[in-house]
Amino acid sequence: MFDRVLVANRGEIAVRVIRALHELGIEAVAVYSTADRDALHVELADQAVCIGPPSATESYLRISNVIAAAETTGCDAVHPGYGFLAENAEFVRACDDNDVVFIGPPADVVEQLGDKVRAKEAMAAAGVPLVPGSDGTGGLDALRAAAAAAGFPVLLKAAAGGGGKGMRVVAAEDELDRAFSAATAEADAAFGDGAMYVEKLLSPARHVEIQVLCDEDGNVLTLGERECSIQRRHQKLVEESPSAALDATTREEMEATVARASEAIGYRNAGTFEFLVGPDGAFHFIEVNCRLQVEHPVSELVTGIDIVREQIRIAAGEPLAAVGRAARRGHAIEVRINAEDPARGFLPAPGRIVQLQLPLGPGVRVDTAVRAGSEIPPYYDSMIAKLVVWDDTRAAAIARTERALRELAIEGIPTTRELALDVIASPEFRSGDYSISTLADLEHRLPSLASP
Ligand code: ADP
Repeated sequence: MFDRVLVANRGEIAVRVIRALHELGIEAVAVYSTADRDALHVELADQAVCIGPPSATESYLRISNVIAAAETTGCDAVHPGYGFLAENAEFVRACDDNDVVFIGPPADVVEQLGDKVRAKEAMAAAGVPLVPGSDGTGGLDALRAAAAAAGFPVLLKAAAGGGGKGMRVVAAEDELDRAFSAATAEADAAFGDGAMYVEKLLSPARHVEIQVLCDEDGNVLTLGERECSIQRRHQKLVEESPSAALDATTREEMEATVARASEAIGYRNAGTFEFLVGPDGAFHFIEVNCRLQVEHPVSELVTGIDIVREQIRIAAGEPLAAVGRAARRGHAIEVRINAEDPARGFLPAPGRIVQLQLPLGPGVRVDTAVRAGSEIPPYYDSMIAKLVVWDDTRAAAIARTERALRELAIEGIPTTRELALDVIASPEFRSGDYSISTLADLEHRLPSLASP
């Protein structure tokens, strides 16, 4: 097992990883930008190294600084969290070159899956059903042909995409040119790569993803699904497990498909296979996230497996304790609390948290790095906390989520708490019968989204 691990991240996920390290008896080294000098992850770590100014490109994203921090503190391994360098093949290679274990899949797997078009090719070869669309990237003519074959409306997507960037719905052929120019420019600016592909727009569709763990011997454990269809602008807001969209047969088919694909591509460590489930119940692969997901606690609560601890154990060469399908129990719901202003179209709203009352009590977990008095810097992600709840049944978990959300009090900055309460109270969410367009359809009548 490792003696000392560098946590190459900030915020709630850095705190989450430090906790897992300490529970395993491993020393944690934090990195921080000057904006995060007083952050909780710095305080909880055994050592902390300043890696640059506030801008992420000059600190958390700067590979040489992160590697230098690991080297100078004598770390055996690096945990990347999610975001920042978590899916950066160049960073994985830099870790390899410096004899620091990267807690995640190997560089070639990260590289292959990071290109969504190559990922889809690999999945097709492994017999995974895809959303109909282009075979590769291409210019306008190729995309036009692929869109016509798939049938409008289509979704233009960036091969290097993430976070919904470089994505455009195209309703008809005459909109393709304009959408392509905008999307390719956006992808180029965000990822330095403007390559585009096209997919049929599935509607109504549900976003259902499968969590997987693979050890260094290639053994595979699937941990069931997470339903992530409550989204705003392609960003997840509420996640739950199990999903009301799956019957036992489809669930097993999806998990078996993911296990087979993981073996075929030589997947290692924790990963998530994302699918869209159509109205007919058929599932179609969209992408693999070769890292820990924000919403991983949902699977932890229903399986009782600490995914971060398993990531560390696997990277240290330890075998999975169980393979096949992880046993599950009960129902879990996660609500993301973002520092965003509903009155201003949910623009990120950094500022100082004056008062903070976190919910407690049975079945409630809060993953956060903020405290009363914390300053939310404007430079990073606006998600400040995750409320995760477990109970025996979906109905009980919903009641518990509402109770916990009501207990949660954050003063000083606007947040998505009220929006979450509205969503949880809506008949659509309660019925379990919702899709990725439900939140947009609800916007006109949710009180938290009403114009001021
Ligand atoms: P990103 O990596 O940018 O998050 P994804 O490919 O994971 O992009 O898609 C993000 C979201 O966009 C999905 O959760 C879903 O809501 C929507 N989406 C993606 N592909 C399709 C599709 N073919 N049809 C309908 N919606 C889609």
